[in-house]
Amino acid sequence: MRYLLFFTLFVCTFTSTHAQDNPFIATCAMGKEVQPKEIGHIKDNPKLLNTNCAGSSPYNYDNNLYMPQSNDAVIYIKLNFIFLTKPDGTGNFEQNNPEHVQVIDDLVAAMNYRIANLGQPAAGCDGDGQTNFSNTKIQAVVNKIWKADPAWDFLYTGYDPNLGPLGGNMPLYPPSSDYYYTYLDSDPSIPSGINVVFANNGDIYNHYMTTGDYTLPPGEGWAASEFPYYTPVDRKLRQFWPNLFNKYLSMKNFVVNNPTWGSQPWSVIRQWFIGMGYTSFPHELGHNLGLYHHDCGSNIMSYAQGNHDYFSRDDIGTMYRSASVTSARQYFTENSFKNTNLNVTSNEVWDINFRNYSTVRIDNNASLKTTCKLIMAPQSRVIVKSGSNFIIEGAEVSSANNSSWNGVKVEGNGYCLIMPDTKIDNNYFYIYTDNIMTNDKMSNSKAADPRISKDQKPAVSQSILKIYPNPTGDFINIRTDEDILSVSVYNMSGQKIINYNENLKRVDVQPIPNGIYLLEIKTKAQTITEKFIKK
Ligand SMILES: [Zn+2]
Repeated sequence: MRYLLFFTLFVCTFTSTHAQDNPFIATCAMGKEVQPKEIGHIKDNPKLLNTNCAGSSPYNYDNNLYMPQSNDAVIYIKLNFIFLTKPDGTGNFEQNNPEHVQVIDDLVAAMNYRIANLGQPAAGCDGDGQTNFSNTKIQAVVNKIWKADPAWDFLYTGYDPNLGPLGGNMPLYPPSSDYYYTYLDSDPSIPSGINVVFANNGDIYNHYMTTGDYTLPPGEGWAASEFPYYTPVDRKLRQFWPNLFNKYLSMKNFVVNNPTWGSQPWSVIRQWFIGMGYTSFPHELGHNLGLYHHDCGSNIMSYAQGNHDYFSRDDIGTMYRSASVTSARQYFTENSFKNTNLNVTSNEVWDINFRNYSTVRIDNNASLKTTCKLIMAPQSRVIVKSGSNFIIEGAEVSSANNSSWNGVKVEGNGYCLIMPDTKIDNNYFYIYTDNIMTNDKMSNSKAADPRISKDQKPAVSQSILKIYPNPTGDFINIRTDEDILSVSVYNMSGQKIINYNENLKRVDVQPIPNGIYLLEIKTKAQTITEKFIKK
């Protein structure tokens, strides 16, 4: 319950109307809408977004948004579709029923089709007249999971294993937070991803099964989803779909061939059901990626009747911002990478925890200073063009999979400054140059004192060499695939104070005074000089 204040809930109903078209087309009902707080609230409460960050970064809320480029690669978000069943595996879409599984797969395919094939705003709708996008360049990766649910029979869910079904008697309706089946958040068998929970009303299901009478309405016809900005970064985002399987049974057995709906065969009715994949599923995903409702009829986030087939430019920009700075960012796959450059061409400070899907390119004598956590896609790198700077101060720079990334490449007279209070505890952090280090560059680096410049030379063998930790109090470790011929330490006056002519991977610097030094490493292919700080 203590998280309740952080939640923004969106509830959408899927109305049943006696029209001669799809009776289950998705709409959202105002009546159950929990109005979100103004997003600007984040500015007053930066701790809702980050622990120590948020401020003037271009990726903060009211600044420019990243918009996907036409040549961007797709980025992928992970969803866990969790089907809660009776202990015998029935009572919901069944894992071993190929038809049930195919329906789910078709819903997912429809969702991914829609977000890659967007319609355009109708006249007067937001984005009308602009150059709009036909593809979000976001796709969902769905992991189907089946779980026997002790509270399956009770749609007063909020199941608490300690209290049993109906424990706490939490109502199904928002703003209760427990109707999302929160206990699934900590289930170790469920992988990283947004938990999309499908429950099913047992009373209605049992009525269908025991009487063969499918005229009974299938139960609560809404879905709900969480908004990412108010959720702690390390807690799972969720969606909840109460009665999709009852709806499937009702459509298959009651709506099919029914004159009320035009005596349509199952092949048509099934498409009506799958149609939620084009509308309702992208809608709920939109909420998870930070989108509010729109009043325009054809927007996927609209309350009103309409095609629900497009996201506006602002919608898509918001989705990308959410993918970078909110709790949603943790669900994008590790290899999500757009194959594009994020160009920094004037001085910028990134004071926001930020997950980036592009290579960062600093050019035009600009300086980029990052003061918060910067998570990079493994395929990405930071390229510091000649004359430009990359300053890491009190920050943490790491790879999205925390194992490898392409590092920081410093070109020409560019340099990278790592301030002493920077936290780099990642063994795969490295900086390298494409040129042989010159004395001029060393003196440039010296001018940066007390900051450190890590530079590294070539590139002949493409092998990356790194030293760590830096700063250090006792030892410097050297990571390289090459055999080391010699290791030398120079003080800033150019005096050699340590020398080993052997394949040494660990240098004891405890005896030398605190200060800045140069570590020279010779291999058969290259000579590399890096600065380190002893403190
Ligand atoms: Zn909604």
